[in-house]
Amino acid sequence: MKTALGDRWLWIGLAALAFLVLGAGSPALVPAKAHAAPAADEGGGAPRALDEGVCPRGTAPDGDACIHLTASDDGPVAEAQSNSHRTRSGQWTTYEQIPRLPERPADYDLYRYPIPPGLAGGRYVVSGYDLDLPDAKQRRGATLKHVGHGAVDLPQKKGTPVHMIALDHQEGDAEVLFAGALFGTTLLTRHTLREGGRTRDYVLLLGHLDSIAPGISAGTMIKEGQLVGAVGDTGSPSLVHLHLEVRRVREGIDLAKVPAGSAMIAEAVTVVCDPRNVLPLR
Ligand SMILES: [Zn+2]
Repeated sequence: MKTALGDRWLWIGLAALAFLVLGAGSPALVPAKAHAAPAADEGGGAPRALDEGVCPRGTAPDGDACIHLTASDDGPVAEAQSNSHRTRSGQWTTYEQIPRLPERPADYDLYRYPIPPGLAGGRYVVSGYDLDLPDAKQRRGATLKHVGHGAVDLPQKKGTPVHMIALDHQEGDAEVLFAGALFGTTLLTRHTLREGGRTRDYVLLLGHLDSIAPGISAGTMIKEGQLVGAVGDTGSPSLVHLHLEVRRVREGIDLAKVPAGSAMIAEAVTVVCDPRNVLPLR
């Protein structure tokens, strides 16, 4: 009798111990899982092991997001990082790209774009920025001229109006740099953003347009919300979508002295940037 009772207490004790171990273990797993989810979405892109569970400097955790500690109209500053991948011809190439800032949401549908969402459920993006992904996860395709994709592709019906957006922390209106054939019919605009206590110029590329709105040519100033064109499939036959690419003008480059067109999106002139760093939030 005494032994049986002792056994019973032993089992209760073991159960309590198991509960404590599992119970204490579970909460510790929660942040790790929560952190792992976006990394999986990104395909484990830029190494972020060092900030695991920790918000970037100057920010503090608020729920599942990091918020800025001080109110400021200066945007965050992202630095270009080196990345590389194998080209279709088998050569290893190295290039620069500006990855998404940790405090910017990974979910593309949290941002505003120049067109309404074209997918069911109010979703936008069929093909996302992938230059921060490991080589094996970057975009490949037999018909693509290059590997890696430094933009987001937004599907919509042909002819859907495209309205200019103001980028986050933008000062003044956008200036048209180029309107013509590049990525199909393409519009390049310059946007001056205040970030990190100074201004920087960015180039927005809207590609595969069906048409560009009348009166728009190099030098035209474009207000937020202004009609600039229509969605199409120029340069991407039968794949109707808007190719939206963001590039930051390199230090010391005066865009006014750069020949309009392809030279403006050359690696030496502008660095491709994860669009989520500068797109306005919805
Ligand atoms: Zn594209």
